[in-house]
Amino acid sequence: MESDLKVSDQTMTVYDSLSLELGERSYQILIGANLINDAGAFILPVLRQPRVVVITDENVAQLYLPNLKRSLSSAGIGHSEIILQAGECTKSLSHLESIIDQLLMQKIDRDTTLIALGGGVIGDLTGFAAAVVLRGIDFIQIPTTLLSQVDSSVGGKTGINTKYGKNLIGSYYQPKLVLADITSLESLPLREILSGYAEVVKYGLINDAPFFDWLEKSGNALCEGDKALRQQAVMTCCRAKADIVSQDERESGERALLNLGHTFGHALEADIGYSDTILHGEAVALGIILAHELSVTMKLCSKEVVHRVKDHYQSVGLPVSPSDISGYNWNPNRLISQMKSDKKVKDGRLTFILTKGIGSAFIANDVALEDVRTILAKATNS
Ligand code: NAD
Ligand code: MG
Repeated sequence: MESDLKVSDQTMTVYDSLSLELGERSYQILIGANLINDAGAFILPVLRQPRVVVITDENVAQLYLPNLKRSLSSAGIGHSEIILQAGECTKSLSHLESIIDQLLMQKIDRDTTLIALGGGVIGDLTGFAAAVVLRGIDFIQIPTTLLSQVDSSVGGKTGINTKYGKNLIGSYYQPKLVLADITSLESLPLREILSGYAEVVKYGLINDAPFFDWLEKSGNALCEGDKALRQQAVMTCCRAKADIVSQDERESGERALLNLGHTFGHALEADIGYSDTILHGEAVALGIILAHELSVTMKLCSKEVVHRVKDHYQSVGLPVSPSDISGYNWNPNRLISQMKSDKKVKDGRLTFILTKGIGSAFIANDVALEDVRTILAKATNS
């Protein structure tokens, strides 16, 4: 994996670049300001034929579709668009069917490329549509939320939700290019920035203690809008994710580290019923704190570590205890049943990512239910 600062010959745009190495499925991740305005020039070289269909949601369409279309036209790329409703409910079979109908109606062929312009919902859905339509066509990610820039647009997990749970239909299908435009984060509500920031911190906690130190110093300014800090953080996270994915694309081993905080977090989201009461990153922040608490209970790390993590999440304004989720009745038994039905449960054992300290996370496949119950019960009164 290589990374360096580049200037585009065509556009003079300055951007960071790194590559995710997966043999013939390798691709570039470009990170910089105003990349959407110059997207056509970056995209053209990876297209089989100069025609694309942009899939986006109504919020993002209003903000960024006109500039994207302008840059596609000036690069000589033919384009049409599909604009969907915003929100998690769009990651569904019915929306997938509607996308596929529209693509086939437009008579796309195997050389057409899809572009996902939006957050993780649009990225996951578009990637999955690309994986299945005509047995697979190319797609490009243009992530416009912090969460999608540091997580969902990289690594090729695509999919949709079902009534039985999230992401239960999907595939591993890698994009041909990722363009992370840091400027697009300026229109994102602070709550969404913070939700993505919970995942940014995760990378420090997994295996990069100096990054966590840096976030303790820079996190507030980053969340408040400092572009240079955002670019640096997105770069660090994408590099970390690319590293892990290139070694373990299908999560047979260390890719599972990226699930730090997610066993707790998913249980919480499922129990709340995937609503605005809690965003994914908010659930992950709480889940990460609980995973650290569990590690303390199992005598794997010191209490000071939990305090550091909790203080940092609290300092930027993320929820750190059940009482921070208004209108939700914390119930350890219900959360345990949610964990048991999570797709990451193998042979009835709960898998958790635990830690020996900041930046020293590891995979534990055999965690005692009683320890988990104790942590959840303790959290009730925090
Ligand atoms: P999202 O896509 O729903 O976007 C959040 C909201 O922000 C939406 O209302 C959207 O319209 C709006 N928005 C997007 N960009 C904007 C911008 N620049 N300015 C203003 N508003 C903007 O949510 P998300 O947090 O980006 O993604 C969540 C999804 O990602 C979940 O479905 C989750 O399962 C998935 N995910 C996937 C992976 C993966 O590896 N594939 C990893 C993590 C999360
Ligand atoms: Mg996540």
